[in-house]
Amino acid sequence: MNILIKKKNNIDSKKILKIIKKYKTPVWIYNKKIIKKKILELKKFDIVRFAQKACSNIHILKIMKKNGVKVDAVSLGEIERALYAGFKGNSQDIIYTSDIIEDNTLKKVILYKIPINIGSIDMIKKIGKKSPKHKVWIRINPGFGHGHNKKTNTGGKNSKHGIWNSKEAFKLIKKFNLKLIGLHIHIGSGVNYIHLKKVCKAMIKEAISINHKISYISAGGGLTIPYKNYKEKVNIKDYYKIWNKSRNKISKKLNCKIKLEIEPGRFLVAESGLLVSKIESIKYVKNRIFILLNCGFNELIRPMLYGSYHYISVLPMDNRILDYSNTMEVIVGGPLCESGDIFTQKENNHLYTIKIPIVKIGDYLIIHDVGAYGSSMSSNYNSRPLIPEILIKKNNFIQIRRRQTIQEMLSLEI
Ligand SMILES: *Cc1c(COP(=O)(O)O)cnc(C)c1O
Repeated sequence: MNILIKKKNNIDSKKILKIIKKYKTPVWIYNKKIIKKKILELKKFDIVRFAQKACSNIHILKIMKKNGVKVDAVSLGEIERALYAGFKGNSQDIIYTSDIIEDNTLKKVILYKIPINIGSIDMIKKIGKKSPKHKVWIRINPGFGHGHNKKTNTGGKNSKHGIWNSKEAFKLIKKFNLKLIGLHIHIGSGVNYIHLKKVCKAMIKEAISINHKISYISAGGGLTIPYKNYKEKVNIKDYYKIWNKSRNKISKKLNCKIKLEIEPGRFLVAESGLLVSKIESIKYVKNRIFILLNCGFNELIRPMLYGSYHYISVLPMDNRILDYSNTMEVIVGGPLCESGDIFTQKENNHLYTIKIPIVKIGDYLIIHDVGAYGSSMSSNYNSRPLIPEILIKKNNFIQIRRRQTIQEMLSLEI
């Protein structure tokens, strides 16, 4: 596979060079304007809830809050982030979604009266004993999932997520005097609208079979973005139409008003993010060329973990004009002491090459569409410190996370 890199015209090279000058590389850069645009695209839904695990920086959460978006938390750390960003307890602002609840998380959830989206029977027992009348949702496993990637499939008998037998769960919810307020399905049909209808049908069936008046249904996340191909772009109008119809059906059957919620992570932030790195080595290995960057899968793990494709473009260090008719065919990798540290790899771990204009050591490569599951999945592997995050707002930019120091990393052990 060869992918020719054409110049992407939506990046402001001058501004990025300024950011590099001030904050060095590697660096994450987010564009606030793009996040706001994506939020607006979902305005038909009654509630948009950001799955913050996609990008949990407090400043990104603040943008969400300011634009009317609520938030999902999957850990105590994410609850603390949400509270810090200004989201309130005892409301629908934050929902805790998980298949387990640890003691310290339970304490916080009770103290702040944060509704819980239940993913296991054991959670019901735990919360029921400690906090009767607590507001809960049921996360339904409809018995089937979606997608070919085992690592991201969220339904069916091979999925650890959600409640298999919702009637049994509801019985227990009643027994413990908990308050069921919503039903949730997170399968992620992507752009497969026939599959989406199947998901909606499952939601209707579950709601009718539980037969309890609820205030919310959630369509979960899983809205795709066009990483590579425009066909991956989800049609929000159709997506809404299908879900809205199901909501109305459930509302009529149960004879109550129901708010329709959507819970995207990727959709809201992926396209806003860039990972900017420097070319440190151009290595000739037999008939191949490896470009080695100063960032690796400790920063962006998606290609290594899922074989995910990310568009890569070149930013010359010296303002020279790139010649797109004179290209080199390269494999792009990082600095880590691990052979899987390659950005240009497919799901089966096979490497592919991309064609880029002739580059020199010191030029920059930009990895695109990394605002979701980029920084939030990064690690200290190979003892490399976490890198800074910069937010572009209107005409200026601010640092929203500074670079970790090596001393800070070591301090946990000293
Ligand atoms: C991860 C997750 C999401 C968001 O998924 P995206 O694919 O990023 O939209 C939504 N809901 C739940 C429960 C999740 O775990």
